[in-house]
Amino acid sequence: MDRVSEGTRMKMTGSIRNLFSGAIMATTFAGGAGAQQPTAHHWAIVLHGGAGIIERASMNPATEAAYRASLAEATQAGAQVLDRGGTSLDAVEAAIRILEDDPLFNAGRGADFAADGRNELDAAIMDGSNMKAGAVGDVTRSRHPISLARAVMEKSPHVFLVGQGADEFSVYAGLEQVDPSYFFTERRWQSLVKQLKKEGLPIPPRPAGAPPPPAEPVTEIEPPDAHKYGTVGVVALDRAGNLAAGTSTGGTQAKRWGRVGDSPIIGAGTYASNQSCAVSATGTGEYFIRLTVARTVCALVQYKGMKLQAAADEVVHQELTGLDGDGGVIAIAPDGEMVWSFNTPGMYRARLAEGGKLEIGIYNDEP
Ligand code: ASP
Repeated sequence: MDRVSEGTRMKMTGSIRNLFSGAIMATTFAGGAGAQQPTAHHWAIVLHGGAGIIERASMNPATEAAYRASLAEATQAGAQVLDRGGTSLDAVEAAIRILEDDPLFNAGRGADFAADGRNELDAAIMDGSNMKAGAVGDVTRSRHPISLARAVMEKSPHVFLVGQGADEFSVYAGLEQVDPSYFFTERRWQSLVKQLKKEGLPIPPRPAGAPPPPAEPVTEIEPPDAHKYGTVGVVALDRAGNLAAGTSTGGTQAKRWGRVGDSPIIGAGTYASNQSCAVSATGTGEYFIRLTVARTVCALVQYKGMKLQAAADEVVHQELTGLDGDGGVIAIAPDGEMVWSFNTPGMYRARLAEGGKLEIGIYNDEP
């Protein structure tokens, strides 16, 4: 047998074996006269809203309550899709759209600013059932970058579009367009100005279309430095047993020179495969890119047979921490195992499985 056909045969055997063990794991058979109806999977969904120096001591109760309410709302939106038999892809998109509209998070409206005073948004989505993926970098006019990433996957022959071309594709795909000032929030702007002063960099003019500066200084509604975080991500398992992952972000504050982080890079910040797991990451993207974090978590599950929690912990607490990187991941397995792992003081996060209780966490001393 030549090497190509042997490789193909091994690949096929592998995927049939994985498919089969997936089916055994997730399927039970109803008894009765000749009826062997596979029962549906239980759906499950996990969300994050960014990881970083988010500490109880510097968080005020109203802000904390606002974050928890937002996480609950987005989780419920995704759960509703799954509960009525919708796809994990639809659930991921639905939940992320809500977080993109929410100015608390660094995605869509409320995104961090680049050093030039612009909001340049990144997003990716991946369908674990067929390994299709779509991603965008440095886009400026789509209200929902996650939907633009999905359009790249479904309506273009490509996987990753950036900058002006991606903005043009968004119009072509018929997505909702907004003026770039739509993404502006005073809180993130003030935070950028402070950061640029600290770095001795020039302060760009207030963006065109932004509201006039307030007479009173804006009060910090979150811990110092929390502005650096707030990327959002969702992973889900639907009743058909399919996994999906998505991530959306404004990137890191005061980023320069067209910087793109890990979030829209398939295998770094976002990854999904029914053969292993679905992952969305958050943290300083440069480390996640170099460690191909999302794919590595899934590879440990796929090739080493590790449990998902152990795989996520290995990558975050050994590899990422070993490089002095900061952040975390959420992940979900085909059997419905829902995990998070992070090496920062906090990560905004939530999870819910069919028939289970909604869990929301912020600090690292919560379960
Ligand atoms: N990972 C994102 C980036 O580097 C930022 C974040 O997750 O906070 O662009």
